[in-house]
Amino acid sequence: MECGKAFAPEPAGGGAEPRTGPHFPTVVAMMRTLSSATVALSLMTLAAPTASATPPDAAPHWHYTGPAGPAAWAQLDPQFAACSTGRLQSPIDIRDATPAPLPPLEFGYGSISPAIVNNGHTVQVNVPPGHVLKVGERRYELQQFHFHTPSEERIQGRASAMVAHLVHRDAEGHLGVVAVLLQPGEQRSGFDAVFEHLPQRAGETLTVENLSLDLPSLLPATSRYFDYEGSLTTPPCSEGVHWMVLREPVRLSPRHIKAFRRLYGSNARPVQPLNGRPIKVSP
Ligand SMILES: [Zn+2]
Repeated sequence: MECGKAFAPEPAGGGAEPRTGPHFPTVVAMMRTLSSATVALSLMTLAAPTASATPPDAAPHWHYTGPAGPAAWAQLDPQFAACSTGRLQSPIDIRDATPAPLPPLEFGYGSISPAIVNNGHTVQVNVPPGHVLKVGERRYELQQFHFHTPSEERIQGRASAMVAHLVHRDAEGHLGVVAVLLQPGEQRSGFDAVFEHLPQRAGETLTVENLSLDLPSLLPATSRYFDYEGSLTTPPCSEGVHWMVLREPVRLSPRHIKAFRRLYGSNARPVQPLNGRPIKVSP
């Protein structure tokens, strides 16, 4: 999952969404409000954007490759230490899961008018309050979702083309992330609305007038899942994250997968040692 700084103590009035994460590029943020009718035309030329400067961010930049790549994240900032010293890190290769009577995932999602953010590492959709996931006694609210390619989590060693991480938080600040694996296919899903409006530049936020995103349509038909305890998959790699990886994938058009890869290349942290953690799977 993306952007741990979002889950540090919240600024007043702020959501968990990392609109300015530790890696947020110091670029000009462009807020574009477009009508649906104009979106099909050129986003670059038609909108009358209102520009606002993103505050400078002193946090170090991290990347998925090169000298600031995953192996070096812990050295970039003392706050990123868990990226190398943590024992419960994510993602993992899911093998030998133990069947267990896990509580069902009860999604209480509705529709939103999405704000779609290119934060330099991924595309992220920030979700306003009110969209709930209940898991046993836990009541989480969806904060944001974002994408990685290939999928960070592996199942029996195999990655999917992409993954969506649906990041939730409960009232005490516990994080619960639902991973939806995305595999190539032409069935429509709620993700299409996002991939048809990818902001092209880092720091850009796109809102589309009259665009409604039906959050339940992001989910596969069944919600059997793998369950384990892990961490953020981006700096600062904080632990204590409850991972719920759905077994059934959702299909995404190869055209959308290509468009995402053109923007971000590979943005997946390598799998981390399990260190004896149990992995459960619902029956
Ligand atoms: Zn993620």
